[in-house]
Amino acid sequence: MDEKINLTIGRAANCELVLTDKSISRIHAKAEIYYYDKIFLVDQNSANGTFVNNKRIKKAQIKTTDKLKFGEYIPDNKSFFKELFNRYKSNKNDFSREYDHMLEQFAKYQKKLDALQDNPKGPLYLKLGLLAGFIGFMIFFSDRIDQRFFYPMIIGISGLTLLGGIFTGSRGNRNKKIAELKMDYDRVLRCPKCNTPFISKHLVMVERMSECSNDNCNALYKKDREVRTL
Ligand SMILES: [Zn+2]
Repeated sequence: MDEKINLTIGRAANCELVLTDKSISRIHAKAEIYYYDKIFLVDQNSANGTFVNNKRIKKAQIKTTDKLKFGEYIPDNKSFFKELFNRYKSNKNDFSREYDHMLEQFAKYQKKLDALQDNPKGPLYLKLGLLAGFIGFMIFFSDRIDQRFFYPMIIGISGLTLLGGIFTGSRGNRNKKIAELKMDYDRVLRCPKCNTPFISKHLVMVERMSECSNDNCNALYKKDREVRTL
């Protein structure tokens, strides 16, 4: 069960969400937020009413797609909900649910990263095979005229050079893929409250965190965490 966060909405400066319009009461309504998809709007006996989808309400659950109106004032949904969620985040401490979602993403990221960081064995086998071929070639020609020794050597060396190109190319490509993977996940692998990035840590470390490592953040990641003393 998520904790309830109450946010006051109105014209008064001490409201958590200040809306400046003459038709809005000093304390017009409050938002009861349990989670990002469970928000209730409760009218606080406002003079001009609170409306959800053109219907005057006392209390109603709202979604980001609903048409809201406070008195005569119609807020822009995008900025209204953004501000609501920002206030919600700064007022709560328990981020265990958000953290569990983050950990699911982290597990996917770690799996992909591990797969990319495994040494590519293909080119190494190819290199050893070519080297064996080169040695065999030299042995075969060593019985013959010495002048011919020159040609297999050229072939061998050019072969190795070509292979070196393949090897370096694949490593460059791998680094590019790792960078792209980090870019894709960096936005989500963060503290759900203060956005401190976790991407440079290993999954094992992140799984064991019970609170944010940032001293200025009081986010708790495990609600029923046990405090163990050694
Ligand atoms: Zn934090």
